[in-house]
Amino acid sequence: MKLQTRCVHQNGPLLTDGDIVTPVHTSVIFAMRTPSSVSGAQYGRIHNKTRASAESVLAGIHNAKFGITASSGSAAITAVCLLLHQKSIVLHHTELYEGTRRILRTIMQPFGVTAVPVNFHNVSLAGNEIAKIKPSLVWLETPTNPSLRLLDIARIAAIARKNEALLAVDTTMCSGLLQQPLVHGADIVVESLTKNLNGHSDALGGFVGTNNKNLAQKLRFLIQTTGMVLDPVSASLILRGIKTAPVRIKAQQQSAQTVGKWLSHHPLIRQVLIPGKMNSEERLLLRRQMSGRGQLISFILKQHADPISTIEKLRLICIAHSFGGTETIIQHPASMMDWSRLTEDLPDRQLLRLSVGLEHPEDIINDLKQALEQ
Ligand code: PLP
Repeated sequence: MKLQTRCVHQNGPLLTDGDIVTPVHTSVIFAMRTPSSVSGAQYGRIHNKTRASAESVLAGIHNAKFGITASSGSAAITAVCLLLHQKSIVLHHTELYEGTRRILRTIMQPFGVTAVPVNFHNVSLAGNEIAKIKPSLVWLETPTNPSLRLLDIARIAAIARKNEALLAVDTTMCSGLLQQPLVHGADIVVESLTKNLNGHSDALGGFVGTNNKNLAQKLRFLIQTTGMVLDPVSASLILRGIKTAPVRIKAQQQSAQTVGKWLSHHPLIRQVLIPGKMNSEERLLLRRQMSGRGQLISFILKQHADPISTIEKLRLICIAHSFGGTETIIQHPASMMDWSRLTEDLPDRQLLRLSVGLEHPEDIINDLKQALEQ
């Protein structure tokens, strides 16, 4: 069965009485036959049927043998980092989601974990660093944020494996529907469900997938024990979002291509950044590891155009954090992301990131046009 059909016809432990939509199961305590009983659901932090349904659907999307949800993408990232020990080294690509950078530096560093940035666009050089530094974990996001560059998951996975390091890939920027890192050799995949899969900007959620049983058990233990679990209402909103995600993403991606093309001809735009368009190597990577470019585009204004006053003139498109929802939103990464104190890879001040929504592309273009030309 195709992925699009599996997203609509969801399977899970609650769909037993002819339910077509997964019910929200709210009980957090369950009657026990004897005090020593270990069977049954026991407690809401340990087990919830709506959450379990979401986990089985998400594991299917990611081609993962084991899938565990978390209360947010950040909680999922934290759970992976909690697999580390004192003196562990994490080698990560230089362009990294600011929240992951904060988790690694501000939270994990005091526990003796060291995070080392390396440029993974040059895989051979990055491979030399992996062999020299011997990290426990290699961390990538592809496409990257906000440059939307692609990294070679399969090549990096092979090098990590040879050096006995785990490879974790955050696939949030395009979602598991467009890229399944486990298929290309990653050990762990992470996705913020808050973005494309929920798609309506009304639930926070995270997912960790793996094919390694031992890792899955540890990750589930960490998420249950720290209480970073996905709540059943958010799980149900995410399951509802997944039903329409393949068609939403397809439509948004198509509009993004139209908007990107228009931007690329505008005299005030220096460069438009779209996944898989940077060079021939990334065009090849797009074909090999992704099934679409997604709905995100970044663009760099020429020096004499001010990015902040430009986006303040937008009427339809909102200035907002996040991406992947039904409304088109725009972000100025240099001022809206918290780059303070973490200055190794500041984004270009002229760069804007657009998450194209489900409006008619002509309306999106008209709004950008009036803001750019005022
Ligand atoms: N990973 C990436 C690439 C992100 O952009 C984000 C949030 O913007 C996250 C993870 C964190 O997700 P959440 O906001 O659900 O905690």
